[in-house]
Amino acid sequence: MMLYADVHTHLDFPDYSNDLKEVIQRASEKGVKRIIANGVNPSSNKKVLELAKNYDVVKPALGFYPTDSLEYSEKEIDEEFEKIRKNKDLVGFGEVGLDYKYLPERNFEEAKKKQKILFQRFIELSEKTRKPLIIHSRKAELDILEMLESSSLKNPVLHCFMAKKKLVQRASDNGYYLSVLPIINKLQQIRDLVSLVSLKQLLTETDSPYMSPFGGRNEPSNVLLCVKEIASIKKLEEEEVANNLYMNYRKVFND
Ligand SMILES: [Zn+2]
Repeated sequence: MMLYADVHTHLDFPDYSNDLKEVIQRASEKGVKRIIANGVNPSSNKKVLELAKNYDVVKPALGFYPTDSLEYSEKEIDEEFEKIRKNKDLVGFGEVGLDYKYLPERNFEEAKKKQKILFQRFIELSEKTRKPLIIHSRKAELDILEMLESSSLKNPVLHCFMAKKKLVQRASDNGYYLSVLPIINKLQQIRDLVSLVSLKQLLTETDSPYMSPFGGRNEPSNVLLCVKEIASIKKLEEEEVANNLYMNYRKVFND
């Protein structure tokens, strides 16, 4: 049986409040061995830890979604950051990053700065612990790369990195990991990314409940479609791709 890992999900979201058990079961039956639940704010982080406690396949990553972070005071952010820093059970830190698309127009520069300061703290935490960052970037891809390049990080994971080819190439040349979504068959940009980046640096994700390849709610069992598409784009056997990608997961997340 082929094994799969979904490195980016939000299983703590209310979309799954009625049938999470079945959703996880469906994924497990298809060979999805690992699902990383990413926290986006203090209450989400708390739920992620509970999920990881209740389901063996779910691994926790805690973070602060860049736009969410704007709604919290410095004190609240400090307190949450301390909790994240002290937690030894995490496989990584996410969701973290920069998002310039949904910023308040009036305080644009200030909001950008606040996001950057927090992202820098996570970069330093990742440097210290060697646990990877799971990074969100929207309209901020260049800033993300520049900040990562000023660090010593070798293993950041760029989730849904919808950048221009030049920046994808640059991330790839830096040795960073890029996680691929199952909407791959719909988006030329993701197909280009897959052709450009070595199999050694690819990971798979669904971003559930978002980004469903079929419309509506996404779920981790759809991560199989990524492997299928990557195999077809790279003209390799599906099994070989699945094995390689699962090994990448184990290496990056030390699991
Ligand atoms: Zn996400």
